[in-house]
Amino acid sequence: MGLRKELDQKDPLAIGQELHQFAAQLYPICRSITGNGIRQTLAMIQKRIPLQTFEVPTGTAVFDWTVPKEWNIRDAYIKGPGGKKVVDFQDSNLHILNYSAPVRATMPLSALRPHLFTIPEKPDWIPYRTSYYVEDWGFCLSHNQMLALEDGEYQVVIDSTLEDGHLTYGEYFLPGRSTDEILISCHACHPSLANDNLSGLTVATSLAQLLSGNDLRYSYRFLFLPGTIGAITWLALNRETAGWVRHGLVLTCIGDKGQFHYKKSRQGSAEIDRVAAHLLRHTCESSEILEFSPSGYDERQYCSPGFNLPVGCLMRSVWGTFPEYHTSADNLSFIQPKQLAESLGLCAAILDVLEENQRYQNLNPYCEPQLGRRNLYRSTRGVALEAQINARLWVLNLSDGEHTLLDIAERSGHPFSVIHEAAQTLRESGLLSIASENRGPQEKTAHSASAESCGRSSRSR
Ligand SMILES: [Zn+2]
Repeated sequence: MGLRKELDQKDPLAIGQELHQFAAQLYPICRSITGNGIRQTLAMIQKRIPLQTFEVPTGTAVFDWTVPKEWNIRDAYIKGPGGKKVVDFQDSNLHILNYSAPVRATMPLSALRPHLFTIPEKPDWIPYRTSYYVEDWGFCLSHNQMLALEDGEYQVVIDSTLEDGHLTYGEYFLPGRSTDEILISCHACHPSLANDNLSGLTVATSLAQLLSGNDLRYSYRFLFLPGTIGAITWLALNRETAGWVRHGLVLTCIGDKGQFHYKKSRQGSAEIDRVAAHLLRHTCESSEILEFSPSGYDERQYCSPGFNLPVGCLMRSVWGTFPEYHTSADNLSFIQPKQLAESLGLCAAILDVLEENQRYQNLNPYCEPQLGRRNLYRSTRGVALEAQINARLWVLNLSDGEHTLLDIAERSGHPFSVIHEAAQTLRESGLLSIASENRGPQEKTAHSASAESCGRSSRSR
């Protein structure tokens, strides 16, 4: 498909700056798991890709959960004994405990204190706190701000509403030649936090733009959801569709300067796990593969035992391990154009491999074909001669209709791109044909086997 090549022809700095500018537009919005903040965010993504939005009513049962009340906020502040605002939502939407119930009250500092959250170790930063499933109210402020509060009466105003409404999510479906799907999922429920939320949103949007207009082997489904409850809601309402997911990626925290981390799916050796590990090994100076664990982002839901979808999670710095995580320091200067562009490039490379990872059949399987006679015993397209010849021999030897190009890349030690190029050259020379396209019955068997595990029998598109 060549998404990576398409990107490489453009100026990486310009791509990065475009991603960063989009993050800057989304940054001021006060998002939450429901409400107008996420609607506004999806509307801005809709200007770039034809995203469909869905509204799920409060009270809808979704597996063991219930779609909560819709939260909206207009203003919030604390006025000190002198009548001056000492904490103001208009300065930063992180100042409010996200999902705070409405409050209008006057109280002494001692009564207010249990509702104030700070980070003593980082006295200038505002923490990000939520109270989604227990009705509460509160303010988050820098520790220094709190230390400056004097004894006296405080006026507390939270002009919010918490009432029956909807949970909103966005979905963009791109049909491919196959009904098999690749799922790209990111959460869109954090307020002004850049790496945790906006980096994934912006890279996913650009990836969708990059894919559109291409001849696609797989169908693609992009989900922009509120974390946890959004993924649970989508899975509950799309149980059949979930059965078509062959590969998936959760994108989060991919704009900071940390090295790449890929967290494997619950399956552990799914094709997406192998592709991500292969590319990180061959294209990054340093990176780390993490085993699956039931904590993290929405891979937890996709990889719950009832679904067990092959969905991994791509990150740079791992959530919870960097000091800026869930604080006001996860801002627009914490994410950088260069890193955002690199992350988009890696995602593009992952999709390229998934699209091109097929089985081939050696059409001359009785002993080696004479490569010299076909001009295949010399270098083409710039790859070193020895590596190129060696890659061709590997492809010829393992193309028995059983091994995929990724199998061959892993066994030979060559990067996938070199093996793929060798396969293309051999195919052009008439020595190889695509085998997997003729594997209809087996593929159908594989479909119905995984379909059963998701409660789905058949589907036609
Ligand atoms: Zn988070």
